[in-house]
Amino acid sequence: MELLSFSKTRTPRISSTAPALPLDICTPGPFPIIYDSHAAAPLDDVVDDQVREWLRTPGSKLLLRIFGQSARDPKNHAAIAAKIVMIFSKGFGEQEPLVAAPLPIDETDPDARTATTFLLHGISERTMTAALEMRILDSKDLSMQAMPLELRNSPLVLLIKGFTTTRTEIIREVVDKKWRDEESSVGLTRIVVESATENIPLTVEHVTDFIDSVSIIRIDMKGTGALLVPHFAVLTDPDTLPAPHFWFYLREHFQSLAYRSNMVGTGTILPYLNCPLCHGCDHPRGLCPFPLVPGWQGEGIKPPSNPKSSKGRARPSGHGGKYEGPRKGKRD
Ligand SMILES: [Zn+2]
Repeated sequence: MELLSFSKTRTPRISSTAPALPLDICTPGPFPIIYDSHAAAPLDDVVDDQVREWLRTPGSKLLLRIFGQSARDPKNHAAIAAKIVMIFSKGFGEQEPLVAAPLPIDETDPDARTATTFLLHGISERTMTAALEMRILDSKDLSMQAMPLELRNSPLVLLIKGFTTTRTEIIREVVDKKWRDEESSVGLTRIVVESATENIPLTVEHVTDFIDSVSIIRIDMKGTGALLVPHFAVLTDPDTLPAPHFWFYLREHFQSLAYRSNMVGTGTILPYLNCPLCHGCDHPRGLCPFPLVPGWQGEGIKPPSNPKSSKGRARPSGHGGKYEGPRKGKRD
């Protein structure tokens, strides 16, 4: 089989976030992006039958993923629902919004843990659009992420560590070169050729756009002795693909490659992390960027009023450091 060429032909495409809307009771932001492990991650722990019914529910609706772990306990659901109703009544002028709480994963145990994602329905299209534009609703009563039910693939393709540099532009070069080399092209060619029989095939142009969109963020994990052991999140624009399932093929392919560089050593692919505060999978709780957002009201570590006082801030063992992430709106 002749190898297809995935050489660089275009400038990188990087998606930008919508500006936050002003709302009296919510923190204006801007907020960091939350990276999920895959499109359906917000519904991972929601019972299948419930997901189907939520999808069938008519009218404008939102998924609301509650920050923190309080929503895991069904005993808290009524109070959380009341807070959601209050926020959408006060903040958006909704009269009678309806809230569906996630059911326990174990049907035989009504007290079992549940997902942290709720459904809000019975709202106007205007409210739905406004909440989606805000993306994060952070108030003193509750903090949550508003999402559409039409889930989108995650920009996060893989987490990698082990390189001998902290410079994201060098990691971007290493990843870009690897994704277009012969080892990678063999797998990419197979994916493209096999897709030819599908109604909407994946083309070389789609894959090239996907690779061109790569960007890197650094996660400043610290190891023994507080030495910096940077992890890198490798991101792309999933909207470059013509159908959602191709994202899974490409992610599997790119995670299977050997990342070696004569100049910065060997990269090791890491399992996804799990932040119990924002539910993102690219950082641990100690590096969650949300508590550092100016005006953050929600659950979590409050930002230090005096930078010097941050020295004593508790962090999980081995997870110290700073999140050099999308908060700054800069990627290499
Ligand atoms: Zn987090």
